[in-house]
Amino acid sequence: MNPFDELPLRDELRGHTPYGAPQLDVPVRLNTNENPYPVPDAVAEAIDKAIRGQLRDLNRYPDREAVALREDLANYVGHGLTSANVWAANGSNEIQQQLLMAFGGRGRDAMGFPPSYSMHALQANATGTAWIDGQRNSEFVLTPAAARAQVRVYQPDVVFLCSPNNPTGTAAGLDVIEAIASEAPGMVIVDEAYQEFGRDGTQSAVSLLPRFQKLVITRTMSKAFAFAGARVGYLVANPAVVDAMQLVRLPYHLSSLTQAAARAALAQAPALLTQVEAIKAQRDRMVSGLRELGLKAADSDANFVLFGGFKNEKAVWQALLDRGVLVRDVGLSGWLRVSAGTPDETDAFLNAIAQVPHDV
Ligand code: PMP
Repeated sequence: MNPFDELPLRDELRGHTPYGAPQLDVPVRLNTNENPYPVPDAVAEAIDKAIRGQLRDLNRYPDREAVALREDLANYVGHGLTSANVWAANGSNEIQQQLLMAFGGRGRDAMGFPPSYSMHALQANATGTAWIDGQRNSEFVLTPAAARAQVRVYQPDVVFLCSPNNPTGTAAGLDVIEAIASEAPGMVIVDEAYQEFGRDGTQSAVSLLPRFQKLVITRTMSKAFAFAGARVGYLVANPAVVDAMQLVRLPYHLSSLTQAAARAALAQAPALLTQVEAIKAQRDRMVSGLRELGLKAADSDANFVLFGGFKNEKAVWQALLDRGVLVRDVGLSGWLRVSAGTPDETDAFLNAIAQVPHDV
């Protein structure tokens, strides 16, 4: 008996299971693309001080518009942006939910290009937005011409493009985003959760904002800033988009503790971001180590690697877990995804995968 059978649940939620990877207590956890490094002591102390500074004022609601945090985020992103171009929320997941509340909803549709971040489709469903699966080629590549043609056919109200893409890891060229943005009748959301991990030459869609009024870039402090537990995400867009977010946000959605912690972390951005280079080095070690073992590994601009060539990825996932290494089964036949870890975690992963028979 389904626990929801007795409840008047919305039809589109029936039969669904909650999103989320297993949170297992194993020695090497490389399944949710977290930053493997703890927040450095000096940064933790600065955050501690900032939070303490808020405690006496917790009787008051926070700044509803989080203006100071948005200003700091604008300065971090650069490109001459100001707080009017930035909106912040509890993780980029909440940002994307707010975007769908404002621009999707009943009678509207959103399109994405799987394999990609599956939360986009789930959030569409939760907001009553119909979902359209676009196509990539067999190498997971989306060319500008293919992207433009699909957007022309479906005329979606919202297009999601994840770049660098999760789970493949590869960033799209700006030509793909330009093709979509110039064809799309509605909003174009580029999910740049992993932007800071791009290989040399990877370009952010932020530079396209002056040309496309309906372009939105979502970012997060969860990955490069090692701040997943704090829940801070943001979008960068033209000011009208930011104004639209105020119509759907809950009042005081971002606590004063979160705002203070995020501002303290941003003030220490250089110290936090030094870890990005270390993570990229381990990611590149994973790619070359996997290829040396005769496995496939997609080019990655993110803090994870899609690897494969398996007959039975579920058996490989279990065999790695049996060796204390947790990776992600992303539901892609023949493939698994591993997050870049510390050098020790990368050793553990490469040793474990070398021991697993690949033709299982
Ligand atoms: N976008 C992508 C592509 C992601 O992989 C994730 C998290 N795994 C998110 C957004 C959400 O991140 P957060 O809500 O922590 O900002």
